[in-house]
Amino acid sequence: MNKNEEFTTEIIDMTNEGEGVGKSDDGFTFFIHGGITGDVVKASVTKVKKTYGYARIVEIIKPSKDRVEPMCPVAGKCGGCSLLHMSYESELRFKENKIKAAIERIGGFEEGRFEFEPIIGFGDARPLHYRNKAQFPVGKDSDGNIVTGFYAGRSHRIIPVENCQTQHEVTGDILRCVKAYMKKNHVTAYDEVSGKGLVRHVMVRIGFATGEVGICLVINGNSVPAEGELIALIRETIENFSNQENAAQINGQSEAGESKQDNTERAAGKLRLTSLTLNINKEKTNVIMGRKLITLYGNDYITDEINGIKFHISPLSFYQVNHTGVQSLYGKALEFAKLSGKETVWDLYCGIGTISLFLARNAKRVYGVEIVPEAIENAKENAALNDISNVKFQVGAAEDIAPKLPKPDVIVVDPPRKGCDEKLLETILKYLPEKIVYVSCDPATLARDLKILCENKAYKLEKVRPVDMFSGSFHVETVVSLSLVKD
Ligand code: SAH
Repeated sequence: MNKNEEFTTEIIDMTNEGEGVGKSDDGFTFFIHGGITGDVVKASVTKVKKTYGYARIVEIIKPSKDRVEPMCPVAGKCGGCSLLHMSYESELRFKENKIKAAIERIGGFEEGRFEFEPIIGFGDARPLHYRNKAQFPVGKDSDGNIVTGFYAGRSHRIIPVENCQTQHEVTGDILRCVKAYMKKNHVTAYDEVSGKGLVRHVMVRIGFATGEVGICLVINGNSVPAEGELIALIRETIENFSNQENAAQINGQSEAGESKQDNTERAAGKLRLTSLTLNINKEKTNVIMGRKLITLYGNDYITDEINGIKFHISPLSFYQVNHTGVQSLYGKALEFAKLSGKETVWDLYCGIGTISLFLARNAKRVYGVEIVPEAIENAKENAALNDISNVKFQVGAAEDIAPKLPKPDVIVVDPPRKGCDEKLLETILKYLPEKIVYVSCDPATLARDLKILCENKAYKLEKVRPVDMFSGSFHVETVVSLSLVKD
């Protein structure tokens, strides 16, 4: 088929990224953006490759039973949430199937050979305003106005967004405040093509349990003008938001019907700015953050709390974005580790020591390893902050540090999307701990690594438990338990 030719197809499947899959009359496969399984659509060809093509929907002839009206004005354009046109129930099934398929096809595990527990989701309705962190690129629109938003899928074109429905509601106010400050003080937005302009990104992070707000401006320079004014404006914005929200709650005007997560936790702490930082990034790169941080106001971290443990979190440190989901995630990781109090445990890819500190309460000794120095600084502070002394944190690559650690009884790994380094898997297979708990944000690399760990019957894949940490997006978190096979 050629570009712009039209055909009618049922959407028979979806890719891991949530794109619809259909076939033209001659059986050629097309990826159709916005199509969901069960839709019958008229599609127009946009690109043809050797063995597959791309098409766009011209008309939905018969909607899938899972189709809903997206609750977001930029759904389908912004690269953030790609499943908003599916019901939440079908989104959860999609995520379960994606993990099952990866483990069976890439991992080579037969269905029924492992226990697949249902996804931990958030009830009947897709949660809103659940993210505690946002990173908005700053740029200019065609009229020269400063815009913030999200990149369109697979591009660096900014789709203007202020009130993203996955973010805490204060975030929109903060973005408007930063833009007003920039306009008034003639502060320029960074231009990716020329490499000129000052402000690249605005990062907002909120402690959902504490109400602490941390803001970090990523800049292509060493300072911003009128610092005092910026601090005052942001503090005022957050204060006003908090006062209005509290007043609304007192008057019973809160959106009680909305499936807002953490309502009680967030109501408990009044929002306040506790950290305003600049991050210096002068490189022409897609990496958002540079290494250098300058504190303009408060601390170079915010404090949050999960299940009674307090955490300092630097803007440079990783911290799970879904405060409700993370409690289930860590709870499962701990349950799967089956600790009795006598074990030596490794927590690899430990970030600010979140999982490590929960493990430490139930283990003899925990060794945490993480590559970002600021995260390890936070991890050490966090151990002290919570009076936990049976944990040791080391900065470095897990694959380099692991061979030097004392022999473990249990290993927990929580790697980034690319999964575990092969060298690390070799080390694990040399030490052969009783239990491995694998926390993963990418089913494909998880399945690849599980295959290696279970080869030659070293480990048995026991349980797989998905957690819906990123509602609306195609990303999904999984916790897996493996036990050593004894002859
Ligand atoms: N377990 C933590 C962090 C998980 S995110 C939590 O739940 O909060 C993955 C972490 O791995 C990030 O903090 C990242 O900086 C770190 N990382 C990436 N590559 C690494 C490597 N090779 N060795 C150790 N840590 C690494």
